[in-house]
Amino acid sequence: MHKHHSALGVATTLKPAAPVTLIRPEAAARAARFFVEKFPGRSLYAVKANPSPDLIRTLFAAGITHFDVASIAEVRLVSEALGGKGKLCFMHPVKAEEAIAEAYRDHGVRTFSLDTIDELEKIMRATGNATDLELCVRLRVSSDHSELSLASKFGAELGETRELLMATRQAADALGICFHVGSQAMSPQAYTNAIERVRAAIVDAAVTVDIIDVGGGFPSVYPGMEPPALEGYFEAIHRGFESLPVSYSSELWCEPGRALSAEYSSLIVRVERRRGDELYINDGAYGALFDAAHIGWRFPVALLREDESDADLKGFSFYGPTCDDMDHMVGPFMLPEDVKAGDYIEIGMLGAYGCAMRTGFNGFSAETLVVVDDEPMASLYGEVQPVRRRANVIKLG
Ligand SMILES: *Cc1c(COP(=O)(O)O)cnc(C)c1O
Repeated sequence: MHKHHSALGVATTLKPAAPVTLIRPEAAARAARFFVEKFPGRSLYAVKANPSPDLIRTLFAAGITHFDVASIAEVRLVSEALGGKGKLCFMHPVKAEEAIAEAYRDHGVRTFSLDTIDELEKIMRATGNATDLELCVRLRVSSDHSELSLASKFGAELGETRELLMATRQAADALGICFHVGSQAMSPQAYTNAIERVRAAIVDAAVTVDIIDVGGGFPSVYPGMEPPALEGYFEAIHRGFESLPVSYSSELWCEPGRALSAEYSSLIVRVERRRGDELYINDGAYGALFDAAHIGWRFPVALLREDESDADLKGFSFYGPTCDDMDHMVGPFMLPEDVKAGDYIEIGMLGAYGCAMRTGFNGFSAETLVVVDDEPMASLYGEVQPVRRRANVIKLG
């Protein structure tokens, strides 16, 4: 992999004709250390946010030893990336029976989630009625405080949890309760409310619970989405956990995906054409910008020019390189109004649900990775230099 000092250096020296993915291992390591030191329990990295083996090894080296995986391919990938070190938790509530069997038999997976009796029976069948299982019952909770809902697909409803918790208690060595408040939760209240649901379920079923897993949802920073400090989330979760009727030896877990990976990657694209306030760039909906196209997510952008433009900022929309009309990102993305064809733009915070979503549709891809040691365009963890470039680097607080 190439190394460079900065995004600007990559653009001006390489003058790349295809998009270039920038990697910032130190930003991911810093996020990992933050969770390891400050979250009042154990943090599992949710691999789906970005399954890069290099990222997985970086997080592991920084103290993240547990990984939330959702498919047999993710199980194999993390096993391989860490040479069998690292503990895998299979937290998808609907799994293939063969996947459970392979995970248990070949990869030492003992932790599984479920939200129905059918899935419980499937897990018991696939593991030969194992007696060393940690089984986490997924509750359905509200996504009201989150930018991306995860409320409708998975999770047992309050009326169903009693029987399910009692049956799972019988089968499990350790019983857990887990939930997911939705991605990019903008308030700690999301977790406080969900923990109240957990309390109701525990009281109703009168079971001993060994693990409370508050899932993912921890936010990152994007234009127009600047969340409160993560410490406030951790305090609210700690307070809620301490007040639950669980045993003294019970454990608190969380499963951050976005918060551990967003700052890890960004992308350099080139403007191939300008039409008014629309820029035709060489990456898009089928590349790293799926969320920008499909749910209007706004990522931070900066013009990478050796001689900084001092033109005023203006809102632009982007077209991606494929022939598809849907390859369109409305933004607005704020850039100097003199931006033109041939310019390079850095699009930030693509480490989570960005670089991981890339397809090769229509022959457009981004094969070059460059490790850089400048700061990400925004950060929840470090001192981001006040306006590293003129364009809209986000300042916090
Ligand atoms: C997607 C997912 C996560 C990670 O969510 P983020 O919002 O990225 O933190 C964690 N746990 C489960 C079960 C998930 O499906």
